[in-house]
Amino acid sequence: MKVASVIVDVPAKQTDKTFDYLIPNRWENAILPGMRVVVPFGPRKIQGFVTEVKAESSFAKLKEIIEPMDLVPVLTNELLSLGNWLTEHTLCFRISAFQAMLPAALKAKYEKWVKLAGNHRPEELPAELQSVFQKNPEIVWNEAVERGLVTALQREAAKGTVEVAYRVKDRLNAKRLKHVYPILSKEQLANELESIPARAAKQRDVLNYFIENPESIEQRELLAKTATTSGTVKVLIEKGLLGEIDKEVYRDPFEERVFAQTRPLALTDDQANAIDPILSSIKEDKHNVFLLYGVTGSGKTEIYLQSIQEVVGKGKEAIVLVPEISLTPQMVNRFKGRFGNEVAVLHSGLSAGEKYDEWRRIQRKEVKVAIGARSAVFAPFENLGIIIIDEEHETSYKQEENPRYHARDVAIQRGLLHNCPIVLGSATPSLETFARAQKGVYQLLTLPKRMNNQDLPKVDIIDMREELRDGNRSMFSKLLFEKLQERLEKKEQTVLFLNKRGHSSFVMCRDCGYVLNCPHCDISLTYHRYNQSMKCHYCGHEDRMPSICPECSSDHIRFFGTGTQKVEDELGKILPEARVIRMDVDTTSRKGAHERLLNDFSERKADILLGTQMIAKGLDFPNITLVGVLSADTMLHLPDFRSSEKTFQLLTQVSGRAGRHKLKGEVVIQTYTPEHYSVELSGEQDFDQFYQREMLVRKMHKYPPFYFLSLITVSHEELMKVISVTEKITNYVRSRLSEEAIVLGPVASTIPRINDRYRYQCLIKYKREPDLAPALKTVLDRYQQESAASGLQISVDVNPYILM
Ligand code: ADP
Ligand code: ZN
Ligand code: ZN
Repeated sequence: MKVASVIVDVPAKQTDKTFDYLIPNRWENAILPGMRVVVPFGPRKIQGFVTEVKAESSFAKLKEIIEPMDLVPVLTNELLSLGNWLTEHTLCFRISAFQAMLPAALKAKYEKWVKLAGNHRPEELPAELQSVFQKNPEIVWNEAVERGLVTALQREAAKGTVEVAYRVKDRLNAKRLKHVYPILSKEQLANELESIPARAAKQRDVLNYFIENPESIEQRELLAKTATTSGTVKVLIEKGLLGEIDKEVYRDPFEERVFAQTRPLALTDDQANAIDPILSSIKEDKHNVFLLYGVTGSGKTEIYLQSIQEVVGKGKEAIVLVPEISLTPQMVNRFKGRFGNEVAVLHSGLSAGEKYDEWRRIQRKEVKVAIGARSAVFAPFENLGIIIIDEEHETSYKQEENPRYHARDVAIQRGLLHNCPIVLGSATPSLETFARAQKGVYQLLTLPKRMNNQDLPKVDIIDMREELRDGNRSMFSKLLFEKLQERLEKKEQTVLFLNKRGHSSFVMCRDCGYVLNCPHCDISLTYHRYNQSMKCHYCGHEDRMPSICPECSSDHIRFFGTGTQKVEDELGKILPEARVIRMDVDTTSRKGAHERLLNDFSERKADILLGTQMIAKGLDFPNITLVGVLSADTMLHLPDFRSSEKTFQLLTQVSGRAGRHKLKGEVVIQTYTPEHYSVELSGEQDFDQFYQREMLVRKMHKYPPFYFLSLITVSHEELMKVISVTEKITNYVRSRLSEEAIVLGPVASTIPRINDRYRYQCLIKYKREPDLAPALKTVLDRYQQESAASGLQISVDVNPYILM
């Protein structure tokens, strides 16, 4: 018998390696690498992934694989090796890496069953069980519990007449619908027709239908077309004239929409210059990473489309990643318009079943292009010709649970394996990416102008401290209020943006804009209500909450934040005639709500769209001529070294919502720190200068892209335990690293307690530390055992994006 190496579905250190199983002869050719199988593991039956099939094993006494779960491998050889790479780079378990690459529907759950043992028959059981097992040779455990059969079953189990079985349950199967087809030929059907009496008119109608259309048809459709009932069809099936079969159908989420075919546009000179290196990379099968840097509306998407066309022309495939939030029908239509049915779309708005269907269209090579959010980077194409990442700076490309991968890194790894180009597009690239482009690691391609040559909107930056000094205590500055009124009169639309992240957590002086910062880390201190203190979550520095501003002695110092609801109320008071649509987590939690609200706004059913982060992107309505940012600062003072970068990106993006079409746009940014470079330079949309300034700050404080970061977070219900473990870990890590590495900790996390668990962390800044990965692995391994027993949780995030 041949042997299969299997990674079993038990995410733990002890099982993070392959186990050998014999392949029973009857499955000899049916079990291949990349397939899921059911294997015995201790007393249980569990799922596993076959990574290799080999002639023999170095272990004696192997158990046999119970059965395969797939008819074809769900992971290609490339994805199997990508899984190993993920494991190494994110320090996750291999099983987690494999699971992450599959659609949710394929993630198995286990079900416990009770069934008749061996050759026992239902008649041997007591009456209450007899009837159960006569209908079905097995019963789901939960059902047995609900029907109060457990004790009776236990008695039988002791006698050996029934037994418990564990079974992997595929939560989702393809959607199957009943189809009907003619068994006989046209001529034979015509003969049969004569023997059917005239009063059975319906039967005759159905036969006539199949004489004209001798193909299989979904039953429902047949019933509609012939105006019959399933009873009639059943009679014909029983007579042996028709057959029935369950056939798989795809659930197409875009079923009813029509895509107008679009053709490639003649490229401008700038576009031609930018696309040239990409096209040669495709033609020569060369791996290259390109940064396509150009403001919104500069023609990046057209470059994506034409690059993909080249790839598809070569018979290869393309993946396009876009942030979840901009995966709108508008966006998808541009790709479907060019490539029609060759496009599969993977996004979280789809049901698990719909996603599974789209995934299988990729797996079966029925499409050439996959568009989706982060996890689409694992689309199981085998002939990849390009991967495009739009808005590459978006932090949603980083997965915040195991495996903690960044889609950009995965894309580049796949590009290396497939010898194909990777294109990163953005108007405000991440600092890391732009720095690599500057150094020539990535190739920089620039689109300097907007397609329509429209000027960027005019931006006014309003100093809210002055407003306050002038006696305006409202959340709207005088200028923003005037401009809002103006739009109402002209019947043009406004987008009001409220930055809600970082709500209430930092303290600022309303008079002078002073924010309490850590003297050592250049990030804001976080306010702790329970003991009225201010803390730095990188280094542990602590201050008391001041009652007057240390800068100007005003007593208007307090923590900061306003909710959308409050803004809506205020609008109702000052502009009662304005029709407002509010978009935030509360109003968009229902499925489809997001799209509906946007539709209402595009149909001009409202004057003002008020919202949080979620309205910053993808809005492209001709009638928006004013964008107001109520408080530019909230994100700026998050305890995160990327806060300036995020502020700049967000303000630039929000400003870009105005005046994208014929009408000219204006932007009003309200802030308490107009002098901060990220606010000032976003007003001028000057990324290059922002980059220069921010790089200085990063260099000075030893942050990426000058240093790498790794973050260890420890949590437990007991504070003392967390502190002592984090301390041990910190000391151990410090002992393994060079002098050059900076190991900060132990220190409480920004969110010091979640669900009654205390959280402490250790932050490591480093340039080159070959011993770091093994050290982190040791930490994870050591505490893995302890964690199971004591409830300790340890996570390691290599290149973290959330430092809380
Ligand atoms: P981006 O992706 O950078 O936001 P787009 O590719 O969406 O830019 O281009 C902005 C607008 O310009 C779109 O309406 C697009 O159809 C149009 N456009 C792009 N390239 C061309 C071209 N070569 N000729 C004419 N119109 C173009
Ligand atoms: Zn002050
Ligand atoms: Zn500090």
